[in-house]
Amino acid sequence: MNAAPTKTNLLGLTRPQLEAFVAQMGEKPFRARQLMKWLYKRAEGDFDQMTDLAKSFRERLKAAAEVRPPEIRLTQVSSDGTRKWLLSMASVNEARRTADGGTEEPHLPADLQAIEMVFIPEPGRGTLCISSQLGCAMDCTFCSTAQQGFNRNLSIAEIVGQVWLANRELGGADPQREAGANRVITNIVFMGMGEPLANYRNVVPATEILMDDLGFDISRRRVTVSTSGLVPQMLKLAEETNCALAVSLHAPNDELRDELVPINRRHKIAELLDACWQYVDKQNARNITFEYVMLDGVNDKPEHAFELVRLLQGRPGKVNLIPFNPFPGTQYRRSTPAAIERFRDICNSHGVIATTRRTRGDDIDAACGQLVGRVRDRTTVRLGSKLISVAVQT
Ligand code: SAH
Repeated sequence: MNAAPTKTNLLGLTRPQLEAFVAQMGEKPFRARQLMKWLYKRAEGDFDQMTDLAKSFRERLKAAAEVRPPEIRLTQVSSDGTRKWLLSMASVNEARRTADGGTEEPHLPADLQAIEMVFIPEPGRGTLCISSQLGCAMDCTFCSTAQQGFNRNLSIAEIVGQVWLANRELGGADPQREAGANRVITNIVFMGMGEPLANYRNVVPATEILMDDLGFDISRRRVTVSTSGLVPQMLKLAEETNCALAVSLHAPNDELRDELVPINRRHKIAELLDACWQYVDKQNARNITFEYVMLDGVNDKPEHAFELVRLLQGRPGKVNLIPFNPFPGTQYRRSTPAAIERFRDICNSHGVIATTRRTRGDDIDAACGQLVGRVRDRTTVRLGSKLISVAVQT
């Protein structure tokens, strides 16, 4: 049996790769620029609509290429404007494509083929939170993704496809916006499912497409890779890109961090911080953001704040305190507002800038990993009372 030729998903190609792709079709490199403009400035995925491309080229594109974003399974909009999508990756999983072009039934449970994406609008900016893997292998004790286990890395097309889809859903493809004015998505954070630096091979080219001026044209400071602390990859990242870096610290000493963030057993805090300061040196005076989840009675005491101050004082880092988002079955509770305030004040009064992340979209379980957890058993999908719009797409 002859295997059907697999079409190339254009969302997975960086500019040089797209140029090579069109060259191999006998076209000039500037055709790649035209294509990128349609793809990213207009969020157009239908080759027939790309009217300034010759008809014959469009026909050849249709035969060899596709624009295939992840599939939307569920959309939720919170009363505060936060928007959340459940995206299925099963259909973009090339490996699961059968020879006749159909899609094999995924062998894994539905929740391990799905990721979540969250858009958080704020005055003057819009942040999109995307995923880098299906599941996660880092095993952080307070994270609901960890409980779901690890399936696989997302491809470049699956990572870029999330942003492509969100941009389209949010109306960012309006030609009026072409000049970059009033863009909807201004910031992208890899703070969804997965450990981005464990999928370095695909995450780095994806960030190139996000930052390319013919791609999404997001400023380098506004693309943030968040890591639990894969030190060798952090050092490599410092050499090879210049996006912003956030580090999930969560504990001010090795004993506690060994427990909460198990990768700490391999790369201790001193080694991790050393890699952070090297990153800042290489990246020309950019701060590192340290994420610190506030767990009641675990890491939120004044002595922890003082320990944190000793680690970060006089260093180019700031602290983002994240109130813990509880999920079914967790042993942890969110710190009290008073404990969070006290922790923040100790940091700030000792020269370590700390801010508290506001919780958003509480009515739609906007914390990453939570929607997937609910869909695991479809009968438990419940929609919050404050929910103002829901669309289920199968
Ligand atoms: N693997 C990357 C991205 C993870 S998600 C990393 O570890 O940085 C982004 C942030 O959310 C991380 O700081 C992560 O530790 C944090 N997080 C995970 N579960 C959480 C929860 N239940 N409540 C609050 N923050 C959580």
